[in-house]
Amino acid sequence: MAGLIRTQQLSKTYGAGENAVHALLPCDLKIAEGETVAVVGASGSGKSTLLHLLGGLDAPTGGKVFFREKELTALDDDALSEFRRRHVGFVFQNYNLVPELTAGENIELPLLLDGKKPDRDYLDPVIDRLGLRDRLAHYPGELSGGQQQRVAIARALSARPDLLLCDEPTGNLDSATGREVVRLLHEVAEGSGIALVLVTHDREVAATAQRVLTIADGQVGGDLYES
Ligand code: ADP
Ligand code: MG
Repeated sequence: MAGLIRTQQLSKTYGAGENAVHALLPCDLKIAEGETVAVVGASGSGKSTLLHLLGGLDAPTGGKVFFREKELTALDDDALSEFRRRHVGFVFQNYNLVPELTAGENIELPLLLDGKKPDRDYLDPVIDRLGLRDRLAHYPGELSGGQQQRVAIARALSARPDLLLCDEPTGNLDSATGREVVRLLHEVAEGSGIALVLVTHDREVAATAQRVLTIADGQVGGDLYES
């Protein structure tokens, strides 16, 4: 498989001197096009930090991130936000939907902000697969947690990214709903050839990925299972 993301001695330290927190110790990792990778670790181990660095949401304090061999860490702010809009989708634990917009409007918001029209041939099947067809006119406050997270997933996928980054996407859901959301995440990502990085502290959720990385005190460990 061709490489999508490669990091080189990537690290992040918050603060300085006595207050320095080494959130991510230097790590070299690769993610292939279309690959699904879970990242597991305790609370505070550096999972979100790693995810944000991979998606260009935050800048590292050391090392580099390459996306298809283009160095993200060399881009200025404008180029980096364009890169995110075009190539990366994010799904967060708290859904982060805009309450004043309907589900359908939330899903298309990233496209609107980028001056684009939705590609219906791509987006409609995603909406159908996520079971949202008859929920598009509803506001987030009228949807269950699982439905809201499915809207957030559709929104993250609307611009047809190459990489979908999910930060504890099942953290606020009961386990049956969480399992269903994860099943759908895999289905839509794999169906479209989109690489998926899934941060979780649920080992059952992690085991659904092709590869599982562990992280402890900022140190990314070897794969938990054979890939
Ligand atoms: P996780 O997502 O695994 O819970 P994080 O990546 O959020 O862990 O945090 C890793 C470490 O970095 C923690 O010790 C956390 O307190 C610290 N940290 C995270 N963000 C900041 C920040 N903006 N400023 C200072 N410390 C931070
Ligand atoms: Mg986190």
